[in-house]
Amino acid sequence: MKISDKQLAQVNDRIDALIKAGSFYGKKLREAGVGHVDSAEDFEKLPFSEKSDLRDAYPLGLMTAPQEEIVRIHSSSGTTGLPVIIPYTAKDVDDWATMFARCYEFAGITKNDRVHITPGYGLWTAGIGFQAGVEKLGAMAIPMGPGNTDKQLQFMMDMGSTVLCATSSYALLLAEEIEKRGIKDKIKLKKGVIGSERWGEKMRQRIKNELGIELYDIYGLTEIYGPGIGINCKYDTGMHIWDDYLYLEIIDPVTGKNVSDGEWGEIVITTLVKEGAPLIRYRTHDLSRIIPGECPCGSKFPRIDVIQGRTDDMMKIKGVNVFPNQIEEVLKAFPELSSEYQIRISHLDGRDTMRIYVETTGDIDFNDMSKKIADKVKSKIGFTPIVKVVELGVLPRSEKKSKRVIDERYD
Ligand code: ZN
Repeated sequence: MKISDKQLAQVNDRIDALIKAGSFYGKKLREAGVGHVDSAEDFEKLPFSEKSDLRDAYPLGLMTAPQEEIVRIHSSSGTTGLPVIIPYTAKDVDDWATMFARCYEFAGITKNDRVHITPGYGLWTAGIGFQAGVEKLGAMAIPMGPGNTDKQLQFMMDMGSTVLCATSSYALLLAEEIEKRGIKDKIKLKKGVIGSERWGEKMRQRIKNELGIELYDIYGLTEIYGPGIGINCKYDTGMHIWDDYLYLEIIDPVTGKNVSDGEWGEIVITTLVKEGAPLIRYRTHDLSRIIPGECPCGSKFPRIDVIQGRTDDMMKIKGVNVFPNQIEEVLKAFPELSSEYQIRISHLDGRDTMRIYVETTGDIDFNDMSKKIADKVKSKIGFTPIVKVVELGVLPRSEKKSKRVIDERYD
């Protein structure tokens, strides 16, 4: 997926605006000697931007439009150090609402829906983004915010909410409460729009089954408008990304080079029309891939896969980028295995090898099992691991996922 001429023109326009404003990134671009980009190759040479830079710009260093045009700020709470402050113009706020309304449309939500919004309102971009999208679409917003489960459920019944917007963990909590209280027949929910966390297929199925609703994953981050920059359609073949507002790349997080469509890597986003705080090649550290080809829905908006975690989790083996979640997905397809596993990566005879230890009961053929798993990993990731099947209870029990991957190459 190469950048189009139109997108290049938009990037040049944003570069001009940044340099003219002399904002944090304007200065950086000028120091780096960046002028206009004329081709995809030029574009791919532009310096990346990072969350740590955004913190350095605290409080208002990112502001690229004149003060009188800024109508709002949002902030992402950093777990360490200063927060990031993102200024928005009226057009940015409106563009974001347009993107969000499009997300709802892709999820089949209409003016006749009543949308129950549980994400928080405030400095964070969540609640207000969900709300603005509902209003832009013309549906009815029920701005609950988080917490107070009793009130949530009462309103859900009394208002006849048809759509639930929530994080996956809160959706699950509500689903369990509905089940526990035996009020399922009073709940009118048909769809869930679930944002912001990485969530496993198991959790997804539970929410889906307990509430009996269709689920849609919404993507976004505060630095780039907020949630609402992409969503899956009813065919559920990845999340469509609004490339009339954003240009999305996938890079190898180690080399920084762009990877081919279909290959996994880090999502990098460039805002094409943002005024308050344009970002060029912003590294999200989210892992995904571009899904090649066209979606059965016929939409030309490009698609990315479900976010598979953070770049910090990634391993490079035999030149292939791998992350624990991919292996876990393969193992989950074998009901004979316990939930415990261990991955060991080592460098033997000049080659990287991956050994996967799995557990099962004694009544199945270990060799046969080992071969089946190795074949499945090969077809999913592209190389053959050594799979060691051991008796149930042999592997160490650990709460932490990180303990499951042991890289012996750099010991
Ligand atoms: Zn589609």
